[in-house]
Amino acid sequence: MTNSLVTPAVKLSETLPASLKPLADLAYNYWWCWTNNHNSLFENINPDEWQRCGHNPVALLQATSYDRLTQIAEDPVYLKRLQTLGEQLDRYLTETNTWASRVAPQLSPIHPVAYFCAEFGIHESLQIYSGGLGLLAGDHLKSASDLGVPLVGVGLLYRQGYFHQRLNRQGWQEEDYTNNAFEQMPLELMRHPHGEVITIQLLVRHRVVNVQIWQVRVGRVSLYLLDTDREDNDPIDRWLTGHLYGGNQDTRIAQEVLLGIGGVRALQALGIEPGVYHLNEGHAAFCLLEVARSEIQRTGKSFYDVEASVRDRSIFTTHTPVPAGHDVFSSDLMDSYFANYWQELGLSREQFLALGARRLGDPWEPFGMTVLALRLCRAANGVSDLHGQVSRKMWNILYPDRSEDKVPISHITNGVHARSWIAPLLAELYTQYLDVDWASNMVDPRTWDKVDQIPDAELWERHQILKERLIAHTRSRIAMARQKRGEDQQLIDAAAQLLDPKILTIGFARRFSPYKRGDLLLRDADRALKILGNADRPVQILFSGKSHPADEEGKRIIQRLMEWCKHPAIRHNVAFIEDYDIYIAKKLVQGVDVWLNNPRRPLEASGTSGQKVCFNGGINCSVLDGWWCEGYLADEQGKGTNGWAIGEDAHTSDQDLQDRIDSESLYRLLEEEIVPLYYDQDEQGIPHRWIQLMKASIKTNSPRFNTDRMIADYVTKMYAPGSPANIEPILASVLA
Ligand SMILES: *Cc1c(COP(=O)(O)O)cnc(C)c1O
Repeated sequence: MTNSLVTPAVKLSETLPASLKPLADLAYNYWWCWTNNHNSLFENINPDEWQRCGHNPVALLQATSYDRLTQIAEDPVYLKRLQTLGEQLDRYLTETNTWASRVAPQLSPIHPVAYFCAEFGIHESLQIYSGGLGLLAGDHLKSASDLGVPLVGVGLLYRQGYFHQRLNRQGWQEEDYTNNAFEQMPLELMRHPHGEVITIQLLVRHRVVNVQIWQVRVGRVSLYLLDTDREDNDPIDRWLTGHLYGGNQDTRIAQEVLLGIGGVRALQALGIEPGVYHLNEGHAAFCLLEVARSEIQRTGKSFYDVEASVRDRSIFTTHTPVPAGHDVFSSDLMDSYFANYWQELGLSREQFLALGARRLGDPWEPFGMTVLALRLCRAANGVSDLHGQVSRKMWNILYPDRSEDKVPISHITNGVHARSWIAPLLAELYTQYLDVDWASNMVDPRTWDKVDQIPDAELWERHQILKERLIAHTRSRIAMARQKRGEDQQLIDAAAQLLDPKILTIGFARRFSPYKRGDLLLRDADRALKILGNADRPVQILFSGKSHPADEEGKRIIQRLMEWCKHPAIRHNVAFIEDYDIYIAKKLVQGVDVWLNNPRRPLEASGTSGQKVCFNGGINCSVLDGWWCEGYLADEQGKGTNGWAIGEDAHTSDQDLQDRIDSESLYRLLEEEIVPLYYDQDEQGIPHRWIQLMKASIKTNSPRFNTDRMIADYVTKMYAPGSPANIEPILASVLA
């Protein structure tokens, strides 16, 4: 077959005028989304279509008429930019002198790191993420690519992804599900050299399921996504990859079997032999069993014999600080999925189930994915210093003869891929005042010291422009939402009066899980009204975020906020933006003055949205939980020097009391510190003391809370074959 090697990118390029052909390779590699002024390259082609297709460059180019394309192809300025970007991509992809090649040459592209995760948040046009875990995974891939770490991602391609959020007239969340059209996305179906689709087979619920594999290019990194939506599968099995975090326990285990076991088989089918398996959260832990099984099959050895070699290659990152957040499956469920499997491992049912049991010898213990991962991985880590401590305490039960501090779980604090999150308008300023190479010297504090040289007026001007853009975007989103909801025309028109760029602007956006206390600010509604509605020094706040479809309490919190948005005294100062995604997140973290985060400590394992804010000059006001414990700095009087700490160090297990302490603290901070500081402005309206704090926020946090530092930590502490194995083999005792 002659057309067998024609990739979708080549096919797309064949539909483009000659001078626009480089657009095809750019469209099929998400690298474009973290390069300078990237957006306009696609947006300029067809701004309306760009909005309509959710910023998906492949769909955009497919939908644009040839007439329009030829018009663009005659614009010399555009062609020059395209050429530059195309060459930049080529150079990027062929560069061999990378950070990893210098620092960790032992990590070889022949045996890459295989990074497994149930969700990946790379760009708003690829809706296969729900929140922080996915965003972290996406940023992990991007920095691994930039640093040249040989790594592939493994995940699932969900036909309907997570849901789209719609709030009805009662403020109640409703869920919309729409199909992803894979052929119109930057995805390539993996094929054999002669063109037929590569598939792997998997036994799920006693049926053989055929799985195909899609590739997403993220710079130099390939992300492989498994998909069961094939005509040769039973209709039920086609929906295995229907939704992210949908369905019941049965769907859950089926998806985790697919991710873990299917993921290993997919890599084998692609001819990839990982040197390291990195399980990002427990969802993928079945992968360890499959690595063992294929080793047993290949060598004829026993499970006991291959155990050490599985462990040598595997590492595990845990993300959940509460026991209930860790996936466990009943032995009934395990029986129905693994009855044939444990024989292939040469294990009895009891030995097999013991691999996931917290307490050995207890027949009622469910099978825990975190337990399995801790038992069969060489090293494990939490995602912040505090989360490391909490995890050691929580999993001490697996290591009964050790003290808590000897539990083998270390920590690597999360970061963000700053090149994706910094507003281009601000990046320009950094290039001008820091160093032309600032973006590649992110982890060096000296890079950021020069932030002090940026004139206050320039920093403020750009920040205000970004705030105006955020407000403009919010107004149009709210008007659209009101229209869809069938509200009165008057109310729709009123959206144009919402918010004011001169007013102190707070952002709060994340998943609406009850522990994040999205309505803490409303605890004393009168006091909150006084703060927001103050005639001289008003405050405005923007909310956004989804609640899991089954989380009634989360939905009630959203409903309360929606109710609040209608309050006559503050209805111009409060807004809830529906259907939170990466695009809204970007607008928010780039445009707000203050980022509010008030989870119940210590339930926020790390949190990353506040880090995105720092790079853009926003200031955090947060409970001392997750990464903020490490980021927050205070002077001798206990006053924050780079942001604010809610509730200081007061902790109680009485939730109601804790809510009261924290909300009191938040009100006090707003009344006495945040609001007065913001409104202390000179005749030009420039708040110099505030800008001092903005600069401190940028300077002190940026070198540490970025994924370049994080990837370097993973490479040197976890991936490098020479890195100390900080987990001792303990399985011997399980099988004894
Ligand atoms: C960064 C980000 C998150 C994670 O936010 P947290 O504050 O860490 O919960 C979730 N969703 C989106 C869209 C993000 O960009």
